Amino acid sequence: MPATAVRPLSTEVQFVPGVGPKVAQLLAKLEIYTLGDLLWHLPRRYEDRRRFLNVARARPGEYGLFKGKIITVDNQKARGGHMTLTKAYLDDGTGAIELIWFNQPWMRDRLVKTKAGVVVFGQVKSGGYSLQIETPEWEEASDSSDPIHFNRIVPIYPLTEGVYQKHLRRILYGAINLAETPPDILTDERLARLQLMPIHEAIRQVHFPDSEEQATEARRRLAFDEFLLIQTGIARQKAQAAKEQGIAMSFDAHEVAQELVSLVGFELTGAQKRCAREIWRDMAQPHPMNRLLQGDVGSGKTAVAAAALLAAVRSGYQAAIMAPTEILAEQHWSTLANLMVGAGIPVELMLGKMTKKQKEQARERVLAGDSMVAVGTHALIQEGVEFRNLGLVVIDEQHRFGVMQRKALRQKGANPHVLVMTATPIPRTLTMTIYGELDTSIIDEMPPGRKPVRTHWKAPDQRGSVYAGVRKLLSEGRQAYVICPLVEESEKLQAQAAEELFEKLRRDIFPDIEVGLLHGRMKPAEKELAMERFRNGDVKVLVATTVVEVGVDVPNATVMVIEDADRFGLAQLHQLRGRIGRGDQQSFCVMIGDPKSDDGRARLDTMVATTDGFRIAEEDLKLRGPGEIYGVRQSGMPVLKVGDLIQDREVLISAREEAFEIVKADPDLSQRENYRLREALENQIAKLDVVNVS
Ligand code: ADP
Ligand code: MG
Repeated sequence: MPATAVRPLSTEVQFVPGVGPKVAQLLAKLEIYTLGDLLWHLPRRYEDRRRFLNVARARPGEYGLFKGKIITVDNQKARGGHMTLTKAYLDDGTGAIELIWFNQPWMRDRLVKTKAGVVVFGQVKSGGYSLQIETPEWEEASDSSDPIHFNRIVPIYPLTEGVYQKHLRRILYGAINLAETPPDILTDERLARLQLMPIHEAIRQVHFPDSEEQATEARRRLAFDEFLLIQTGIARQKAQAAKEQGIAMSFDAHEVAQELVSLVGFELTGAQKRCAREIWRDMAQPHPMNRLLQGDVGSGKTAVAAAALLAAVRSGYQAAIMAPTEILAEQHWSTLANLMVGAGIPVELMLGKMTKKQKEQARERVLAGDSMVAVGTHALIQEGVEFRNLGLVVIDEQHRFGVMQRKALRQKGANPHVLVMTATPIPRTLTMTIYGELDTSIIDEMPPGRKPVRTHWKAPDQRGSVYAGVRKLLSEGRQAYVICPLVEESEKLQAQAAEELFEKLRRDIFPDIEVGLLHGRMKPAEKELAMERFRNGDVKVLVATTVVEVGVDVPNATVMVIEDADRFGLAQLHQLRGRIGRGDQQSFCVMIGDPKSDDGRARLDTMVATTDGFRIAEEDLKLRGPGEIYGVRQSGMPVLKVGDLIQDREVLISAREEAFEIVKADPDLSQRENYRLREALENQIAKLDVVNVS
């Protein structure tokens, strides 16, 4: 190809051969505007068209590529005339296979014209008289010597209406050949050391791979770039934060540790001690702490948070704790107020539901510094709350807060230290991506004497024996939660479902036992009363919605029945189960469910198989993907086009290491070998800005 034919990546896509203004408009729906975008429009999978399958040897269930002639084709009406079926037979010399299209009557004429035969691909099923394929991918075989569509592993792209597979494939084939060589953000030295393909090679191989291995390698390279850009951004952000002026707190760690033990009344576990030390070390630095504390439900995050609070207060600074719900804020408040009273430290509670007067008084005490610790919901960050000298902010259940809220709270003080706590363990790859700028401490040990919850999965028709089992435990003095089926449509319907279940249990199943009710539509005072009566043992069975999910701590409750358990997400089930197994008695979780989907079964199987929150989190990530969990969207999860947080774990880890090395050696990316990387980052930021503005 002559040098003049080389086109820059910034070329508008309409000027790419085979595109034109009309197709360009369609491609815009795929967010393809330039030649470069086109090259980065990656196949979603491949078809191995190097080998054809014989109809005679095909088996139901298998995917196959067939080549032959159309011998009959016909349109039929079905469903009382509401649907058109196009049925054709393809004969490849060894036998005939039926092809079916739904509501595409024009298919008949197109198939009739295929003189040289067709190539079809799809999943083989057993039909009435022969094997069949529903809605196969197909092409005319007229050009089967064509180097683009046959005799190779072919790319299958994400499409949009009006753009066909074969068309897009041809456009890409041409585009790769005439595009300028994409700039490589990795130097030769780095490519060799990291064993990665050069970018131009990766682009070619990802679209038209020479082998499956080459396709995999190409993807690995592209995923690496994607992760490297994100991680370099994170590394620079972190380097920046490390330079910020913060509050170097001065306290005697030994004394604080002793005071803490006397307040909580138990020895901290090794993991709790390690986490507390990591936090204290940060708080003593003249830069703001940015730390994530992870620990499974029941691992004892509260005591670690108290360690941080105490250190702040003993250094003469105020501390704030923010929780996502009023119930949880109150729970924290009551725990902490009880703890801190022993140390003579008043703890303020601030909630949106308090009266104006109450709020005013609380505000005054906080402003004057009479209250050294404040607990609240987002009411804490509302206008008007001023601290005298806020030095530490603890945010519980981070995933329910947006990044903006975190920022707002920080601005209440002069760059206070920030500790974020998550109630659910998060897979490491996800932490590195969404909380990448935070340092992490993990409580990976349970307090002593805990017995793992025994978990069972029962079918709905075994409900009778489940409740008989509950009754037996109640007679031994234990208490039970019954979680009512999840109704996602509305809080009102959810409350109704809870009330119905409550009535049923009270009337039919436990008429002789005190049953309580807790749901999100109850008034705050009613909720409080319901919780209090369960906590003090007046109520033996608490029927509840997921409002009990977070924070409720009643060690004597050792059994939980979850109705229609398959409707809940995995993280949610784990969180719910975390309400039991908090004392030294053996606890039991019984999930009642009859799942209709594979995912539903997988969730229940996982719950039965393990109580390890990190394993459950990994499984959840596999089942749902990062977009759906942990409120990842609001926490600013970058969109991954290539990389996969599960499959590309190793790639992510090595990209992160590389990024941090690079930024350490060259914080401004001003050295020659980082020039391309910086350029790519700047382009990316420019793109993001466009998105933010529009
Ligand atoms: P999390 O918030 O991590 O789910 P909590 O802080 O509520 O867990 O602690 C769960 C329970 O374990 C509480 O009753 C707490 O008092 C108790 N606990 C925490 N740490 C210890 C420890 N080191 N030894 C004994 N009990 C502990
Ligand atoms: Mg907690």
